[in-house]
Amino acid sequence: MRALYVSSEVYPLAKTGGLADVSAALPTALSKLGVEMSVLVPGYHGTIRSAAARSIRFESTDFLGFGPVRLIAAQTPDTGLPIWIVDSPTLFRRSGGLYQDEQGRDWPDNAFRFALFNHIAAQLSLGELVANWRADVVHANDWHAGMTPALLAAVQGRRPGTLFTIHNVAYQGVFPGYLYEGLRLPANAFNSDGVEFYGGVSFLKAGIRYSDLLTTVSPTYAAELLTPEYGCGLDGLLRARQRKLYGILNGVDYHVWNPGRDSYLPECFDPGNLAGKRTCKTELQRELLLEPRSDMPLMVYVSRLTDQKMADVVLEAIPEIVERGAQLAMLGKGEPSIEQRFLEAAQKYPGRLAARIGYDEALAHRFHAGADILLHPSRFEPCGLTQLYAMRYGTLPVVTRVGGLTDTVVDAGEQTLRLGTATGFVFQYPNAQAMLACVDRALALYDQPLAWRKVQYQAMSRDFGWDVSAQRYLALYNKLVPDGVQIDVTMDADPLPKTAVR
Ligand code: ADP
Repeated sequence: MRALYVSSEVYPLAKTGGLADVSAALPTALSKLGVEMSVLVPGYHGTIRSAAARSIRFESTDFLGFGPVRLIAAQTPDTGLPIWIVDSPTLFRRSGGLYQDEQGRDWPDNAFRFALFNHIAAQLSLGELVANWRADVVHANDWHAGMTPALLAAVQGRRPGTLFTIHNVAYQGVFPGYLYEGLRLPANAFNSDGVEFYGGVSFLKAGIRYSDLLTTVSPTYAAELLTPEYGCGLDGLLRARQRKLYGILNGVDYHVWNPGRDSYLPECFDPGNLAGKRTCKTELQRELLLEPRSDMPLMVYVSRLTDQKMADVVLEAIPEIVERGAQLAMLGKGEPSIEQRFLEAAQKYPGRLAARIGYDEALAHRFHAGADILLHPSRFEPCGLTQLYAMRYGTLPVVTRVGGLTDTVVDAGEQTLRLGTATGFVFQYPNAQAMLACVDRALALYDQPLAWRKVQYQAMSRDFGWDVSAQRYLALYNKLVPDGVQIDVTMDADPLPKTAVR
């Protein structure tokens, strides 16, 4: 079986968040299960240079009116995962972010950039671009790849089966309707039963509407998506397609996130011996100019600085955290006003608060290794990888009870502590008061070294590897392939099916 995994990010070539990690790890895990996997990514500034074993497999001086395009076959460095790079010098090769310019404004031509990406995905998978290469399954991810299922659904005759994964329903890729014609999308799909969304054109809706099967990245988020509170306006459509929707938990690539063999760390460690973790804490305090106090709990916040990640609430809680005798280090990038407020807070509390603005993969590893507690609150959280990384590094997470956080962190309550199943601290309401009450529980346990050590051991030993989840994806790929390919994508008749979300 040959599958094309379509994603706007893949680690280590292009990353803004968890999507990149998943787009490297899941295809690798599926390859091990015997699927011939390759990942299609845009060729951003630097992506092509960093890729290995490059060869041009298709070239057009003007592809569907989007300008010159080349399709490059390559591999990820080190891991050798096969990738296809869409090289459009005018649309993708520019300095700045993947989706935004240096000032944090969305690129004005995002609709065209990702329309091109989807056209290439569809045509490559159909065998129209590279001789003797076509896919049996197309696995499209998030809004950037949402038009691919729509393009394939419009094909008469043989086509690959499509699976669409929602990593975050809040990012929808909605653009003004007047652009539709120029995007070269199926003419009859611009209506409310198609890709139209309140007059605009929605890439995410297209993926949800036209894919043969749907997944999202945790069971709890799959259920939440069906509600107006979390569905971001697409809950009605998702309820209509509920029988095609599966919640499959994301996994961790323990080759990349392994405290026992992590070249970013000053010293490695494992659950049985945490001497190296103590060194990591000392070194991190030194690096961040925090007071060199091994007894003082060190909390970290590693995140995109957005409303989702409750950056505002973390800022609000800073004085109280310092008051409680803890240190806080943050590493993040996002809304400029939030960045500024973190920098100001760091000046106000020297030695107790450190703020690093920017995106730094190596530093993120050192944060997870050197900290005692991860502050990881979210207003909504499809899966969340950060808390899984922290747990493996013996850093206990403080999280909101929402989405994938619910599915992955076991709150340290009386019973779970007794049973030895606790792995972190969970709170209900997304506000500073509730978060601080949870922080208090964490700090109280931190003051009991033996009990803390037990929870740390449990958190480090939990297995969130990809094996089980990759098998579940394979089962879905298999559903798509046997009858070939002509799968009917008509909507489910019953808008509220009785079957639970799997
Ligand atoms: P999301 O994808 O919503 O941002 P996840 O928890 O699923 O959240 O994944 C976040 C990923 O991005 C993790 O790999 C985390 O370590 C990384 N990350 C977030 N912010 C930064 C940063 N400023 N520097 C380095 N890594 C970061």
